Amino acid sequence: MVEHVAGRPFVAGRGSRNEATRRHNLSTLLSLVHHGNGVSRADLTRTTGLNRSTIGLLVADLVAAGLVAESAPATGSVGRPSPIVVPDPDVVAVAINPDVDAVVVGIVGLGGVVHATTRVEQDAIPSVDEVVAAVAAAVSVLTQGRSWRVVGAGVAVPGLVRAREGAVARAPHLLWSGEAVAAPLEAALGVPVAVDNDANAALVAETLFGAARGRRDVIYLNGSVSGIGGSILTDGTVVRGADGFAGELGHTLVRPDGEQCHCGRVGCLETEVNLQRLERAAGEAGIDHAHVSASLGSGSDELAAEVEHQIDTLALATGSFVSIFNPEAVLLGGFLSALQARQPARFAEALGEAVFAPLGERLEIVRAELGDELLMVGAAELAFADLLADPLGAEVPTPS
Ligand SMILES: [Zn+2]
Repeated sequence: MVEHVAGRPFVAGRGSRNEATRRHNLSTLLSLVHHGNGVSRADLTRTTGLNRSTIGLLVADLVAAGLVAESAPATGSVGRPSPIVVPDPDVVAVAINPDVDAVVVGIVGLGGVVHATTRVEQDAIPSVDEVVAAVAAAVSVLTQGRSWRVVGAGVAVPGLVRAREGAVARAPHLLWSGEAVAAPLEAALGVPVAVDNDANAALVAETLFGAARGRRDVIYLNGSVSGIGGSILTDGTVVRGADGFAGELGHTLVRPDGEQCHCGRVGCLETEVNLQRLERAAGEAGIDHAHVSASLGSGSDELAAEVEHQIDTLALATGSFVSIFNPEAVLLGGFLSALQARQPARFAEALGEAVFAPLGERLEIVRAELGDELLMVGAAELAFADLLADPLGAEVPTPS
């Protein structure tokens, strides 16, 4: 499996007659076109430092492979108009996100464009076999009558993933333990399948197409009904750890005398900073999941106190992460983003107190912005990794 490297500098290799250099340059060009969802030839020349004729030859190779197309330049531009190189809209990946109550399946094109999604509701927590069946049926419906060329599938799983093995070590909410996931999906779909933790996939998506675009050192924390997911990007690479499980930030200890966590321990961050606790504090008023931040400000004194407790606790834990990793940004998603948005000054002050000062001076707090498409784009990126690494080496169905 190819490791994703976000925001890597696009330094072109020299000497177009060398095959390895050519492949490297094709990878660079396709990655730029994908991540920009279209880039002018002039910008490709400027970014890579390659000359115009070399760019022309490389683009022609990508056009011949059916990976990109050239469109007419915008009229009225100053100087000589430069054609825009855009991803071929028919090159797509299948994106898959299994959860406790549904399996979400999408078709995502190069450029991070979500063409279609469907949510396959489940009566009970789905097994891997049930997910495979749901995905196969959904893909068959979504691709009916389309000229899409599917290069692979990516699966974003809420749990501990052995990405290299395409297996889930443990997904507590799905009740999966030691399950092969890539192999049965490959058998059903007939394309390569890559699997990763959902927070890792989400962080990569936000780094390429969302709020953390272009950043190389980011701590990501996402809050949902299932708890807190985390992922760490350092020097452009997702931190994996010895087993591939690094980044379980929701299970860092914040309160030794706290509540029982579903991971089997006590006082984890996600037991203190917790959506169900907010809902209990809100009482009958409840929390509107589509407008969490507004709901958090319109309730009782009990809710206000719980909100402040959770903001302070989140800031305290985030301070530890900042001290360890020295990120340029902390990216908050889900209800964590809503909590911070409720009282940004309180969060900033509590975080400032929790961080060794020089580490906080440049630190930015940003909110995830890809919304409903986040995990679809992230899962698709897993599937595009091999194609982007070696555009002419990966298996892409030829255009018909
Ligand atoms: Zn825990």
